[in-house]
Amino acid sequence: MQDLPDIYDVIIIGGGPAGLTAGIYTSRARLKSLLIGKGFAGGQVTTIEWIENYPGFDEGISGIEFSQRMERQAKKFGLEIIQGSVTEIYLHDEIKRIVLEEGEVHEAKAVILATGANPRPLKVEGEEQYRGRGVSYCATCDGAFFKDKKIAVIGGGNSAVQEAIFLTKFAEVVYIVHRRDQLRATGIIQERAFANPKIKFIWNSLVEKIDGKDTVNALFLKNVETGERSQLDVEGVFVYIGYNPNTGFLKGLVTLDEDNYIITDEEMSTSVPGIFAAGDVRAKSLKQITTAVGDGAMAAVSAEKYISQMKR
Ligand code: NAP
Repeated sequence: MQDLPDIYDVIIIGGGPAGLTAGIYTSRARLKSLLIGKGFAGGQVTTIEWIENYPGFDEGISGIEFSQRMERQAKKFGLEIIQGSVTEIYLHDEIKRIVLEEGEVHEAKAVILATGANPRPLKVEGEEQYRGRGVSYCATCDGAFFKDKKIAVIGGGNSAVQEAIFLTKFAEVVYIVHRRDQLRATGIIQERAFANPKIKFIWNSLVEKIDGKDTVNALFLKNVETGERSQLDVEGVFVYIGYNPNTGFLKGLVTLDEDNYIITDEEMSTSVPGIFAAGDVRAKSLKQITTAVGDGAMAAVSAEKYISQMKR
């Protein structure tokens, strides 16, 4: 196949740990690489106050600094990074065409999808109305607005419990409202939450409504065991009930699982030759920065192999 100078070898979509790692690897392999990201490099990681389970950072590191370092590292090896929102990818023989919202089109021999996932909404009355006025999905971004206030965190996973602990830096009380009577969060995070006097647990409870005037002032809860309904007076609510993958723009291009995550093999290949996926957007059981980074490296190496076979 003829080499066209304006065609990228690899286009990576998404600038979180998976995408940036893929970019470090493809750039070091001297593949002409472009990363298209939305907003700040780092993705979801930038919303994590403190990362303490990424090997090599024994004291921990802030999500923002971690992201900035990865971005600098990738650029150092020649990765081009632009901001944009991809609306469509289509195939032109073996070439993949990537269309941005603004109409700009980029072409590549291989594509790595690393678009991650977005916070899942509760889908209850009041959530949309009070979004940004007491309802938040990012403790790092909004925690400081709740100094000495009573707030609630919804969910029982690592995100909910870790961010609830962080929010105790500001809030007077943080209620963790969980739909079961056991947390899903990992042991060490649970231990810290149980030992924190500012955290109170409301078990077996679902949020039915978020209420307020100009801003949030209460949650209406239902106990799933007893059916009892109650009101919890809080000025803020942080929703951490999991994530939805960012795969809407793919419009059936690659095979997804029933939850819309991209299905890949162990080499990160999707159902379309030359299109790979990495990180939280991929169907897998462990979603961590460490696994995203591993996926990114694997996807880059697979893309390199795919391109070298195209050239033959
Ligand atoms: P998650 O592990 O999927 O937990 C979601 C939590 O929300 C669960 O406790 C779930 O309840 C609850 N939930 C789900 N839908 C709900 C609904 N409609 N109403 C009320 N509650 C609902 O999500 P996550 O905590 O965001 O974590 C996502 C991934 O990132 C996980 O793999 C996690 O391990 C990882 N992560 C790791 C770290 C770390 O290692 N420090 C930090 C953050 C995230 P049930 O428990 O009943 O299912």
